[in-house]
Amino acid sequence: THPVYAKIDGPVVLIGYGSIGRGTLPLIERHFDFDRSRLVIVEPNPDLAGDIAATGYRHEPRAVTQDNYRDLLGSLIEPGKGFVVNLSVDTSSLDLIRFCREMGVLYIDTVVEPWAGYYFGTEDNAARTNYALRQAVRDEKAANPGGTTAVSCCGANPGMVSWFVKEALLVLARDIGVAADPQSRQDWAALMQRLGVKGVHIAERDTQVRLAPREPGQFVNTWSVEGFIAEGFQPAELGWGTAEDWMPANAHGYDTGCRAAIWMEQPGANTRVRTWCPTEGPQFGFLVTHNEAISIADYYTVGDPGAPEFRPTCHYAYHPCAAAVLSLHEMFGSNQIQQAHHILDVDEIESGIDELGVLLYGHEKNALWYGSRLSNEETKTLAPYQNATGLQVTSAVLAGMVWALENPEAGIVETDEMDHRRCLEVQRPYLGPVEGHYTSWTPLTDRQTQFPEDLDEANPWAFRNVLER
Ligand code: NAD
Repeated sequence: THPVYAKIDGPVVLIGYGSIGRGTLPLIERHFDFDRSRLVIVEPNPDLAGDIAATGYRHEPRAVTQDNYRDLLGSLIEPGKGFVVNLSVDTSSLDLIRFCREMGVLYIDTVVEPWAGYYFGTEDNAARTNYALRQAVRDEKAANPGGTTAVSCCGANPGMVSWFVKEALLVLARDIGVAADPQSRQDWAALMQRLGVKGVHIAERDTQVRLAPREPGQFVNTWSVEGFIAEGFQPAELGWGTAEDWMPANAHGYDTGCRAAIWMEQPGANTRVRTWCPTEGPQFGFLVTHNEAISIADYYTVGDPGAPEFRPTCHYAYHPCAAAVLSLHEMFGSNQIQQAHHILDVDEIESGIDELGVLLYGHEKNALWYGSRLSNEETKTLAPYQNATGLQVTSAVLAGMVWALENPEAGIVETDEMDHRRCLEVQRPYLGPVEGHYTSWTPLTDRQTQFPEDLDEANPWAFRNVLER
């Protein structure tokens, strides 16, 4: 009864069988027609060998590295056919994109990942930014336009949230009474400007919880612990909008590339911002750097990128699950990265939802949150081997694969550049309630008055009021 969206000719190479890889596999099985004898899982962790053997698929138990990727992947793919689905850590998205396009093989990933060592191997903070990682992929796109499709950063966020921004803009246009039928990037950017949106939070609240408390010395999360720690130690980064007239003292801009972002000299996962989600309302989120903060600010820029007429501020405001908040608190407090890592399994989670959406703020209706409010309970009924967080990611990978198979010569694309209607059509059955909620809350609402704060009273949504200092 599950729709089969496309046929994949040739090998399917799944790199990484972690929380996202294992959740994506059953969706690939459901929704594509492919030769099962030609699917291979590349996964170096010996602890996962039993699970992979149980799938019945071929297992290549090696790490993809800078030295071996051409030989290793070259031996698994067939030029001009098939799909490489990269759901690993420590593998360079840019190098794999170049290689797959050279070979005429479709490619998708969920993050611009560098080779092992990048995140902690340099003292140069500007070089450790997502801006630098993303710009390298954008430069590759500019240097080699068109050709075999490679979808960059197509998970939940980055990924799905870019489709939500478009959906939210259409909802807002309808509710404000603005006729809208955007086709091009310029149309979408002009629509956001016309609607008076000043910025976008990727506003996420994860309330998934298990009964057993977190043990000290253990990092607990609902998705890759390794991935979260790596991005958490990158500098806080955000798309920098034209409505801002104050900048943090430790922030830096750029004079090369898209110039849509700034970065701060502090780790993102230790940077708090004020945001709002439907269930819990006002809350702190962490300003963890993410590709979409930059891509959305870039995509919705009107005018010269160096001196734009309009650009939204955009950043992640992530309240991870309670156990992850405590894990971060312990990690930054002790200056020790926990050695024990645990990803909450769908069956040990007692209750909770992952509420992941976009908060479009600053317009005449103040703020609109639009997103998925998927519970772990519902997830169990939708797809196996994953919690709510996982399913929001894996269903985006599914949608991105469908789009790539339907658009095989689109070149390197980000999710902002894809057909959001088609992608959400494929993804929506896996997202639980997808809803829009308006709020009258702003970062100045109910602010404490006992201590003086450096606030911009005239502009409630100014980053000066959003950033906790
Ligand atoms: P995970 O840590 O559970 O799994 C990653 C897997 O990659 C592990 O099994 C590991 O052994 C394997 N791996 C490590 N080095 C490798 C190498 N050199 N070659 C091949 N495999 C290697 O992580 P996850 O939760 O499954 O996440 C996977 C990726 O997806 C991460 O990069 C993460 O940042 C990304 N992600 C993106 C989103 C999004 O919404 N865009 C959400 C969650 C995760």
